[in-house]
Amino acid sequence: MGFQRQKLSRRVVSDLKKRSTSGVFFYMLVPPILFFTDNYIQRHVTVSLVFLGVFFVICLFRLAHVYVSKKISDRYESLNTGIFIFSILLTALSWGVGSAYILHQSGEQAMHSIMLICTVGFCAGGVMSFMPLLQLAVAYNLLMLVPAISAIFLRGDTHTLGFAMILYSVYLVLITLRGNHEYWTAMENEHLLEEKSRELKKASRTDALTGLYNRRYFDELFDLEWGLSGRRKTPLTLLMCDIDHFKKVNDTHGHQAGDEYLKLVSQYLRSVFQRDTDLVARYGGEEFVVLLPDRGADQALSLAEQFRKKIADAVLEYNNQNIRTTISLGIASCTPGSDMNRDRLITLADNALYAAKDAGRNRVVVDTP
Ligand code: GH3
Ligand code: MG
Ligand code: MG
Repeated sequence: MGFQRQKLSRRVVSDLKKRSTSGVFFYMLVPPILFFTDNYIQRHVTVSLVFLGVFFVICLFRLAHVYVSKKISDRYESLNTGIFIFSILLTALSWGVGSAYILHQSGEQAMHSIMLICTVGFCAGGVMSFMPLLQLAVAYNLLMLVPAISAIFLRGDTHTLGFAMILYSVYLVLITLRGNHEYWTAMENEHLLEEKSRELKKASRTDALTGLYNRRYFDELFDLEWGLSGRRKTPLTLLMCDIDHFKKVNDTHGHQAGDEYLKLVSQYLRSVFQRDTDLVARYGGEEFVVLLPDRGADQALSLAEQFRKKIADAVLEYNNQNIRTTISLGIASCTPGSDMNRDRLITLADNALYAAKDAGRNRVVVDTP
């Protein structure tokens, strides 16, 4: 499978930013609410101020970084990602250390419960937000939980809580593994689907045998070009080409040989009509069309003659047989306006092509309204 995770890393990082930014606001809100409503701030002024200050600065930095990194050029992408991940881990570590300090304080039972609930909640949120990057999600949770669990064991009054927290950590790692797997499977499927839809789109526009545009797509582009040339008041020239006596090629050399000859003709078409704006398409069986925006009948005639001569001189070697034939072309040109329409230009080019056939084939006829 052509799927590569590296290719998607930019998308994943931007996804992570979206997933985690709303959490930053909670980090900014939760500590002040806890410390003020429980009056903890009055009992422990210094601890509270340090905790609030450090947390506030880190959160502000994270918000500012999300904003600034959008504006900074892609050259600093890996630096940006590094700073982003570092700031997330710093948040986890500060919360971990801060909550561990409070959990280790005696006589603060109410605060202990609140801190534990918040820690557990933040960890669950961390799993949801960071599961696309397994190591980040696990490191985030460990940085939050290991200090808290250590503080509980160091306090020594209840080991049950400590063991419960260890089990919780293990559970979080398992959920992270599962979520990570599901996230990447979904990404992989989405990526494959996009690739398939690109392929389908391309296939729906091209002719399978020659690789040229097919008639349907040509008609679409013709519409666009018609509108553009009409607005710019520039000429639009259409060439219709039909291989002469192609039925005989098939009858004499076989259908496969005929197919090879069609490929040869399309290669010559491409080699003569080279501009990016030249539209070359297979219009039907052995008929081709070329639309030349911004070029008049004279320029088209000289290109058509070049192409006609190339085909007349071309010999296709196929299964030890030499296949050669000629091609006839009809040209019609106009500047799109009220007195002309698209279908009329096609009819004129078609009439010119039939005039070329009538006049003996292997020639170019120009019809201008
Ligand atoms: P004319 O000079 O009047 O154009 O004669 P012609 O024999 O080319 O004209 P006609 O329209 O009678 O025959 C066209 C032939 O093109 C008939 C058909 O079998 C063949 N053809 C159409 N599409 C394909 C294709 O994809 N592959 C092959 N090998 N032949 C095709
Ligand atoms: Mg034909
Ligand atoms: Mg023909």
